[in-house]
Amino acid sequence: MQINIGGVTPLSTIDYPGRLAAVIYTQGCNFRCLYCHNYRLVEKRETPFTQDQLQAFLEARRRIIDGVVVSGGEPTIHKDLPSFCAWLKEMGLAVKLDTNGTNPLMLRLLIEKRLVDFIAMDIKAPWEKYSRIIQKDFPVEIIKECLQLIKESKIACEFRTTVHSALLTLEDLEKIIDIVGPGYSLVFQICNPTPKYNVQNTYTKEKLLNFISNKQGFHIEVR
Ligand code: SF4
Repeated sequence: MQINIGGVTPLSTIDYPGRLAAVIYTQGCNFRCLYCHNYRLVEKRETPFTQDQLQAFLEARRRIIDGVVVSGGEPTIHKDLPSFCAWLKEMGLAVKLDTNGTNPLMLRLLIEKRLVDFIAMDIKAPWEKYSRIIQKDFPVEIIKECLQLIKESKIACEFRTTVHSALLTLEDLEKIIDIVGPGYSLVFQICNPTPKYNVQNTYTKEKLLNFISNKQGFHIEVR
């Protein structure tokens, strides 16, 4: 099994709803988002972790954690992701996948084989603005297919949007709410400055909470 691991967080109380989890960051991503916080993980490089080291790391925390978040980078670009998730589940750990929703074949496999217990998918922007955020052309039909697969999977899920006032207007956020639709969890994550994208963000938690306050019937959270 070969999967490039760029880093780990030993314990997180916030990345896997309802669980104490380690976070494993895969190396490499097929997007180049303007505000990426994990930009050191974007290029595909050799992994600094061997599988044995990772196993020792997880076993040492097994009494504390009950889940693992597989994040990135973009985990679904790694062809061995299904065997990696199966390996984690064999250790008795619940698996949450963080994805940008660009590999429907991989997602379908993970869902059909029940190799993940929770899926969090990014909705970067309304469809017409996607390429501006991700800094490349990518067929949004593929992202729509992933969204639909996750919605129909009956696996616990949430959709997430990183919000920056210089990139997404409130009208854009309305469109994203419509894309996700009622009955599904949507999280607006306020974008903090990064060394690569240090533009002032006028969205505050209060402003966004006020904005969502009249969206009855939708499950929207601001983080
Ligand atoms: S999808 Fe995530 S990891 Fe990839 S460039 Fe965008 S923010 Fe960074």
